[in-house]
Amino acid sequence: MAYRTLRSWLRRLAQTDRLAVAEPGVDLDFELSAIAKRQDGEKAVLFPAPKRGQANAPNVPVVSGLVSDRGWIAESLGIAPSEVLAKFRDAVENPLPWREVADAPVHQNVIRDPDLLRDLPIPLHNEHDNGPYISAGLIIARNPRTGVQNVSINRLQISGPDRMGILMLPRHLHNFYAAAEAEGDALEVAIAIGVDPATLLSSQAIVPIDFDELEVAGALHGEPLRVTKCVTNNVRVPADAEIVIEGRLLPNVREMEGPFAEFPQYYGPAGRREVIQVDAITTRKNPIFHTIVSAAMEHLLLGAIPREATIVALLQRSFPGVLDVHLSRGGICRYHLAVKIKKTNEGEPKNIIAGAFSTHADIKQVIVVDEDVDVHDTVSVEWAVATRFQAGKDLVIIQGALGSRLDPSTDDGISDKMGMDATMPVKREGLDYVVVHVPGEDDPKMDSRIAGAATANDAMLQEEN
Ligand code: MN
Repeated sequence: MAYRTLRSWLRRLAQTDRLAVAEPGVDLDFELSAIAKRQDGEKAVLFPAPKRGQANAPNVPVVSGLVSDRGWIAESLGIAPSEVLAKFRDAVENPLPWREVADAPVHQNVIRDPDLLRDLPIPLHNEHDNGPYISAGLIIARNPRTGVQNVSINRLQISGPDRMGILMLPRHLHNFYAAAEAEGDALEVAIAIGVDPATLLSSQAIVPIDFDELEVAGALHGEPLRVTKCVTNNVRVPADAEIVIEGRLLPNVREMEGPFAEFPQYYGPAGRREVIQVDAITTRKNPIFHTIVSAAMEHLLLGAIPREATIVALLQRSFPGVLDVHLSRGGICRYHLAVKIKKTNEGEPKNIIAGAFSTHADIKQVIVVDEDVDVHDTVSVEWAVATRFQAGKDLVIIQGALGSRLDPSTDDGISDKMGMDATMPVKREGLDYVVVHVPGEDDPKMDSRIAGAATANDAMLQEEN
């Protein structure tokens, strides 16, 4: 069973010694991020009473690091790690419409004269960030033409007491905004902070426009997501979120936003960007604020899982021999893809390399391996490259393609791509490519042959002169 609220997941982490609790008085400026970053991959951290310098911060705890590895994500969905991609794919193919409720926990407290830094504990995360940022907010908006909602996570700069700068890539939210702006209208938005891992994950689904990502969350939960209408606009938000900021993306307004640290572990630059006017903040009783430290495992995995699920689905349409894919940590869970295949023809891996580049522009390197290689283990993949790859014939380079603008080695996003066929030949003879194996090495019973024996005594280890 999936965990359906932030609090139920935090209780699970606490019960299993994976929720560290910081002492009171941790500074929202850098200290909070530094502590969370040092626990990254090990534990989530709860900050019960952070402060800002000598000033009192709002009496709202902060949490960071909700998911540290794929196992945690699987657990939050109530499944085994090997089932995560199939589960996510199934949720995208069978979305579950949400259910609207009038009585929502997130409306237990309504602030109609909002002051962002007075009301919420918003951290300053990184050395060169341009001030405090909301980094774990689900931005929800309705298509002004169809009424269908969209969910995305965008970085939000605090620009004033009731003003935020936003970075929008040219995707669905930006499309809605452009349609509203063309009519001279503001676009109503809501920002949900403090949701369960499945809802966070669903916000990153790679689905078409007019496909409400909250319906993926419902499918992951196994029951419709409870939503409620905002108090100042028509956007529907998760009813069990900790905090919702209601506002409007203003037409014909651009202000400076950035720099802010992004997933590649480099800064995304400053620029003149769109602005959200904040109209209200609503919260649960005693809310918890969630923040994502840039390029922490939480940040990387929330992007990786939906991408992998999409990539494997797209590849399998053309190549039924594709078995599994993995976006590796060293490739910041975006740029480096390993593909596991059951190879039946020479040449096929190069078709798969070409196909993989077409699934997402961010992908910069593809390594194709055989079915005996563990794509989730970078040592196993490197072993395949070391022993089954020859650069002269197995390397594919594509120059001048579209890549990720946040990769600083690209020419403003124009990037070279590299593919490696690290598979064995289909036809092999004798002991060619036969992997060394000791009969019995996989048998746990071998361990009992040690356990019962006496320990080594001095006589056995004595030098004999
Ligand atoms: Mn969308």
